[in-house]
Amino acid sequence: LSLKYSELEAGKYYVIDKDGKIYLPEHFKTSDEGFNSLIRKEVFKEAVEYRASPHVKFLKKLKIADSEPYSDAGHLTYLPRGSLMLDLLMDYSLNVVLKLGAVPVHTSIMYDLNMPSIREHAKLFGQRMYRVKPGKREFILRYAACFGQFAMLRRYYLSKKDLPLKVFEMADSYRYEQRGEIKGLARIRRFYMPDLHVITKDLEEAMEEFKKIYNVIFSEAKTFGWEYYSLYNVTLDFINAKWDFIIDLVKMEGKPVLLYTVVPGKYYWVINIEFHYIDSLGKPLETATVQIDVGNSKRFNIKYFDDDGSKRYPVIIHTAIHGSIERFLFEFLEEAAKMKSNGRKPMLPLWLSPVQVRIIPVTKRNIKYSELIQEQIESAGFRVDIDDREITVSRKIKDAESDWIPYIVVVGDQEESQNILSVRIRNVGVKEYNLEELIDELTKKTIGYPKRPLYFSKYVSRRPIFT
Ligand SMILES: [Zn+2]
Repeated sequence: LSLKYSELEAGKYYVIDKDGKIYLPEHFKTSDEGFNSLIRKEVFKEAVEYRASPHVKFLKKLKIADSEPYSDAGHLTYLPRGSLMLDLLMDYSLNVVLKLGAVPVHTSIMYDLNMPSIREHAKLFGQRMYRVKPGKREFILRYAACFGQFAMLRRYYLSKKDLPLKVFEMADSYRYEQRGEIKGLARIRRFYMPDLHVITKDLEEAMEEFKKIYNVIFSEAKTFGWEYYSLYNVTLDFINAKWDFIIDLVKMEGKPVLLYTVVPGKYYWVINIEFHYIDSLGKPLETATVQIDVGNSKRFNIKYFDDDGSKRYPVIIHTAIHGSIERFLFEFLEEAAKMKSNGRKPMLPLWLSPVQVRIIPVTKRNIKYSELIQEQIESAGFRVDIDDREITVSRKIKDAESDWIPYIVVVGDQEESQNILSVRIRNVGVKEYNLEELIDELTKKTIGYPKRPLYFSKYVSRRPIFT
């Protein structure tokens, strides 16, 4: 029943199992529901409806983001909490590529479609674009960082020793998605793409770097306890020339992958892998991607000089290790929805929680002491606020719970006189700490993750209400 790679036809789906055997999707049986849902969506074109997606409710409930009727559909407004989360995710994503040795840049968001290289790349990319014509020249808004980075790289003098060169941009990107498909964070018209390009000297080096990035993508998913399912889009000539490389990737992954065969030259890449996250409703959403591009260096006249002084065109890897920042956030919110359906309280990781610790003074006379505690936890690098409103303690606890705050500290006369903190830890229970122990635990749980201060008043009573 299994096929040989030389028998594959263009424009078709196949399954490669973990041992490298090829099957038609209808002949492949697995109990892995994640992989089955990827097959249903990609091969059998089952519609995926994100409208009912729980993350959409969380965006509103937690005051993260909302659509803006004064702007276009799919352009979100992030409220202070959401902005804080977005910035933390961007910091996190930047740190991952900095560890890989990437060089961050910022380039323009608009490009002249009359430039042949821009026009050709845009055509091969195949996305619907925003057009802007402020004067005589017409521009398109970027849908990824490729244009700006390639336009910049063509002006660099590169030699072989400079490669591989990794260029990174947190690129706000614009895609004119169909109106009916827009919902929540899953499909939007404006998003942030943590876009990395790796400039390599030849296909061999590109394949080596590709494997490294592949590993990073999987280790990132593992860090958060997520499972990714892969769709390999590969041209027929790359399949025939580099089948061993493809099988190496499948074996690294250790589970079946879906393969789609592409006519050579239809796109700018020879291999393009999309990694799919399975949401709380069991539906796949593409997040991370990695591609090998053999055409754009020539198109944009990006070249490097070999040892003998001869001019060569590099091979370029395009990758977004975290897909888009919005889909990265989508994943955390859908994980929270999974907790909820498993009977736990939904929550975010401590490092990503807008408020990490809330202090609740029992009476007015406990506010001073609460402020003292707040200052010390804050100076240790955590986001901590005080619910100083004149309402009951039980109501304050209820509100903190409804905001998914991971640590709630209730401060009354007894706690104050005994120097003990009574702490409600989300999904754990009530524990007693002294201040040092609490700071110690917070530090241990957030080590290696980005830190940012509160983006709003530390006093709950002094925050305007968004309706
Ligand atoms: Zn790119």
